[in-house]
Amino acid sequence: MDQIWKDMYEAAKAVLAPRRISEYVTAGEVSAAVLSSSGRIYTGVCMDTCSTLGICAERNAIFSMVTNGEDRIERVLCIPPNEGKGAPCGACRELMVQLMPEDYRSIQIMLDYKNDIVTTLGELTPEWWIG
Ligand SMILES: [Zn+2]
Repeated sequence: MDQIWKDMYEAAKAVLAPRRISEYVTAGEVSAAVLSSSGRIYTGVCMDTCSTLGICAERNAIFSMVTNGEDRIERVLCIPPNEGKGAPCGACRELMVQLMPEDYRSIQIMLDYKNDIVTTLGELTPEWWIG
């Protein structure tokens, strides 16, 4: 495993903080780090709410990347509950495909940090409706 994955893991770990914010909102059970094409790492945490207003950690990190003026994803890593294995959900995959329709297949996804198992979005999303 290269240093970039380790840096992404540490960045995601730094924002991982499960907490109840109100009677209706919890956050931080999952955190994610996204590496942009510039080499910057953006992080996000999940938010769970009533009425489906929440967001996944991965999309939260991607929105942070876009907020900061970038739009090219190189790598994605998330830390799911109990630091287990985790692949991006369908909504997160869909967002990445739509952001990078020409080359989303090359986005690297950390599936299992403990065992250093990396795949690509192309492997996770064969026969997507785009591309
Ligand atoms: Zn998701």
